[in-house]
Amino acid sequence: MSYLGLNTTTDDHAAKASPADVRRKNRQLIFRLLFPTNQYSRAELGRRTGLSRVAVSDVVGRMLEEGLLRETGQAPSGGKGKRGTLLSIDIDRLRIISIDLTQEHLLHGAVTNLLGQPLRHAEVTLNTGSFVSVDVIIELIEKMLGMSDGEVIGIGVASPGVVDNGVVRSSTMRGWNNLDLSTPIAEHFGLEVNVSNDATAAMLTERFFGQGGPNMLFVRIERGIGSAILLSDTPVIGELHAAGELGHISIDLDGPLCPCGKHGCLETMISGTALKKQLSAADVEQHQGILARAGRYLGQALAMPVGLLDMADVCVYGQPNIINATFIGAAQQYLDAATSSSFHKHTVIRRCECGPDITVQGEAIAVVFQHLAK
Ligand SMILES: [Zn+2]
Repeated sequence: MSYLGLNTTTDDHAAKASPADVRRKNRQLIFRLLFPTNQYSRAELGRRTGLSRVAVSDVVGRMLEEGLLRETGQAPSGGKGKRGTLLSIDIDRLRIISIDLTQEHLLHGAVTNLLGQPLRHAEVTLNTGSFVSVDVIIELIEKMLGMSDGEVIGIGVASPGVVDNGVVRSSTMRGWNNLDLSTPIAEHFGLEVNVSNDATAAMLTERFFGQGGPNMLFVRIERGIGSAILLSDTPVIGELHAAGELGHISIDLDGPLCPCGKHGCLETMISGTALKKQLSAADVEQHQGILARAGRYLGQALAMPVGLLDMADVCVYGQPNIINATFIGAAQQYLDAATSSSFHKHTVIRRCECGPDITVQGEAIAVVFQHLAK
């Protein structure tokens, strides 16, 4: 089972599980079936999970009390027996505070419902370049708590870089090394804290509210480049929590020096910052050529993971003036030339259409799944 609890298939260790483990697992199963917007009766939940009537009503009863689920009316009559009450995720009672650390000069926070949908926004502009202290994040959270109209169950922070159990191991964008974000925030507020990589957070929004299925490679191209991998609805985190660190794979060992110490990292070649610099130094008629070359670099970087993982869906998030049809088309063309074969299904590279709240929403979803796993 993934730490995000997306994948709720039964594991082999169920026999050793304690009653508390079983109840937690059942909670996750039921929540995941209803998430984000399904409505089922208790009987239907029993059919879909294979759980007994008693087990379903026990778990559902507790989740109704907690404010995780709500009753939303009567199921259509099935002909026999009495009609069941429909259940859905309760979006009116519980709240999440979600913070997005991906923008250079701005911290963006939102109060969301259990679907991660922002209800209220707040921002802090950064006067001191891109440096962010934990105190500034805490100040923003404090402000957001004051704006919440419901009980807050947890705080989420989406950060660029390698994130390991609440600690940002490294973020070249923020200049952080081994910065523990989770402990000071949890101690200050006495609430559960989730810290996720920004690409992983955004991928959750694409999975539940965009076009993404249970298998996807999600790429963010902004000031830096990050990616996240979803396999059978399980995010791939990696041995050192650095899976998806596409930005610091070198595609040209003789290329420009990267802050990470290597040469020709994808990030130094085609990040939003690198491309904006290249575009502003060039004539307008050269722009599409620059973006096409950048797209080919992305195609080159993606060929190995796509072929290796047999990945059919690649979703790219970034500014529309950079991640445009020229860029995507060139990436697609390179990837097709590099990977297509009789056994490899055609992989489609597409632009993410989830919009600017993608990170706060996904991070809030990560908080909700972590809460359910507790
Ligand atoms: Zn690098």
